Amino acid sequence: MKTLNLHVDYIEWEGLKKALKNIDELSSKQDPAKKKVVEALVVMTAVEKGDSLETVEEYVKNIEDIVKQVKAENVVLYPYAHLSRNLGKPSVAIEILEEAEKKLKKAKIKVFRAPFGYYKSFELKVKGHPLSELSREIVSSGGEVIEDLGEKERARLLREISKSRLDTSKLAENDHRIIGRKMDLWSFSPSAPGMVFWHDRGLHLKNKLIEYWRELHRRDGYEEISTPQIMDRKLWEVSGHWSKFSESNFKTTYEGRDFLVKPMNCPGGMLVYKTTPKTYKDFPLKVGELGWVHRIELSGVLSGLFRVIQFVQDDAHIFCTEKQAEGELGKVIDLTKEILDTFGLKIHHVELSTRPEKRIGTDEEWDFVEKTLENVLKKKKMKYKINKGDGAFYGAKIDYHLEDSLGRTWQCSTIQFDVSLPRRFDLTYLDEKGNEKRPVMLHRTIYGSLERFLGIITEQYNGKFPLWISPNQVKVLTMNDSCEDYALDVKDKLFDEGFRVEKDFSNESIGKKVRNASIERFNYIVTVGEDEVKAGEIAVKSRDSGKLEKMKLVDFVGLLDGEVAGKK
Ligand SMILES: [Zn+2]
Repeated sequence: MKTLNLHVDYIEWEGLKKALKNIDELSSKQDPAKKKVVEALVVMTAVEKGDSLETVEEYVKNIEDIVKQVKAENVVLYPYAHLSRNLGKPSVAIEILEEAEKKLKKAKIKVFRAPFGYYKSFELKVKGHPLSELSREIVSSGGEVIEDLGEKERARLLREISKSRLDTSKLAENDHRIIGRKMDLWSFSPSAPGMVFWHDRGLHLKNKLIEYWRELHRRDGYEEISTPQIMDRKLWEVSGHWSKFSESNFKTTYEGRDFLVKPMNCPGGMLVYKTTPKTYKDFPLKVGELGWVHRIELSGVLSGLFRVIQFVQDDAHIFCTEKQAEGELGKVIDLTKEILDTFGLKIHHVELSTRPEKRIGTDEEWDFVEKTLENVLKKKKMKYKINKGDGAFYGAKIDYHLEDSLGRTWQCSTIQFDVSLPRRFDLTYLDEKGNEKRPVMLHRTIYGSLERFLGIITEQYNGKFPLWISPNQVKVLTMNDSCEDYALDVKDKLFDEGFRVEKDFSNESIGKKVRNASIERFNYIVTVGEDEVKAGEIAVKSRDSGKLEKMKLVDFVGLLDGEVAGKK
């Protein structure tokens, strides 16, 4: 409920015309006649959704307080819808106003009520002392009743949230938003700006990236953890995120405590580190987390998978001694190259960002951090540019700029060398001599954001994903109904072998069925006609070579297995 409280010399109003047709059914106690009240507190009132008879207590208490303060002789309850854009139902509003009138009268206050649901003319003279104009927002103390909307209002909201804003006229043919729609991979909705609705096929792609990531990280000795989505403000005060990135963070509350929706995985990882004592024998300790993070972006800059608010970061933190840092950095560089190579992305160049003006840590620490990063880059014979003063406030970093097969460059992978968060979180380990020491820490991400990475490779492949990640591996088509049993058997066998296989047994012409499957970029189209049934074979058309071959199903499975194993 919103109120504007005006202490006036006088107010005069008149109900001119019904604004609500059924107003007489809602209340018989409305008086539209001309009325003047002097020396009054006028309480302009808008009853909002969620207000109930419980709100009346607060409302009346508020009025009593102000009446006492300004020494008003009369009170006018004046329904005034313009104070809110979230108005409650008229029936509830009238009930609340009538109840408030009763309560105020009981408290021996002289009350008048302007009619609800009428267009009114009014004139008033505000006294102009410091307390003569007070606005208040009244929230009921408990038991808020949120009413379900009417059917009409629901239909209006549904129309509003169903609007698709994707204007494809200005997008390139290989734009991942167009491919995503054609292939039924993902979608976007105004209900969740900058967040992705993953459809089965798109989620398959994302899961494949994750599966591959897990395979390599397991091999390289990484652990994997998962930390909570919202965490107490105190944690973010320690890490520095609460104040430093305040405008780009989502905040929420729980039992009167402030919480932050995590914009980064690191602080949660620090807490996990601290749960057990560590010694030099645990190092290097490599801990991965595929964590959902949220960062506020202006809605105007959001763009498909490239710029999102919610995304998964393939984070990992490596805790080690200063001596181990260089070797570990080298391993991260190798792993990054391996992953990028798999997707045919080339490293265009890397940037080494050095100490910024505003930083924490001593000059000696920064000398060490920068020197170490430079040594590694030289040893790995990598082309790099120095980005002077562009490091994070807690450490220097290497940023990768990648080149896709279309010649575009992207920044994805990052490696940061941090000596500061371990200090902020008081991380320790025992060295060989049993002395307590501070570890150093590397933050690194290879895909960067899984969403963005997927957007890049979708455009690079033009939706023609290699078989090992493809959501549309095989489509089985029938020439006519008589082949259906055989074709279904082929489809089921491929499914049982673990492939992504779909069927089109419709009565469309075979030409049309092939065209549809091509639009969906199936790697292989399997056609079954009477000849194939007789010979116990299938006709296989390859998307990439365009070749059409007849073969036994078992040979086709062998071909698919080989292609998947080779990550082609
Ligand atoms: Zn981190």
